[in-house]
Amino acid sequence: MIDPLTTGQFLIGSSRENHADPNRVDFSTLRQLMKRAVTALPILAERRVIRAFAGIRAAVSDSLPIVGSLPGETRVTLATGFEGDGICLSAIMGREVARIVRGMPPTDDISADLETLSPARFTPARQEALG
Ligand SMILES: Cc1cc2nc3c(=O)[nH]c(=O)nc-3n(C[C@H](O)[C@H](O)[C@H](O)COP(=O)(O)OP(=O)(O)OC[C@H]3O[C@@H](n4cnc5c(N)ncnc54)[C@H](O)[C@@H]3O)c2cc1C
Repeated sequence: MIDPLTTGQFLIGSSRENHADPNRVDFSTLRQLMKRAVTALPILAERRVIRAFAGIRAAVSDSLPIVGSLPGETRVTLATGFEGDGICLSAIMGREVARIVRGMPPTDDISADLETLSPARFTPARQEALG
């Protein structure tokens, strides 16, 4: 992705490495990303890299986030595992978590989706039902 920002800078990337060190930018990967970006948009060769960052994209074994009350511990609410979509989903998930902690039902049009994300899917009973 090459994302032109309103500042005149470009946001380029990114990469995914399973279980890599989230506190370290891998410079060979960075070099590869820059080379590919310059191939796609040669004018970028005139620019300098001013910032690079690494981080965690927390992911769940079934590739879905976990959102909802912890079974048996309803005062604990989970909202995690958003992988590479956590920023885009933050507003809607924040709204729904606020509803959960206030004891309100989920917003109608996404209640089925939220049910799919429930931590209850990892309980032994649900796992058995899924076979
Ligand atoms: C390089 C990169 C690019 C990305 N690009 C996008 C994108 O373009 N669009 C998009 O939608 N998403 C993107 N994401 C994903 C997005 O950043 C995450 O999905 C989102 O930040 C997850 O939010 P979160 O609140 O679940 O977790 P986090 O943002 O990881 O927040 C967890 C917080 O808990 C804190 N914490 C951890 N342990 C403890 C502890 N023991 N005690 C107290 N606090 C603790 C951490 O310091 C952190 O502040 C990207 C991620 C990366 C790494």
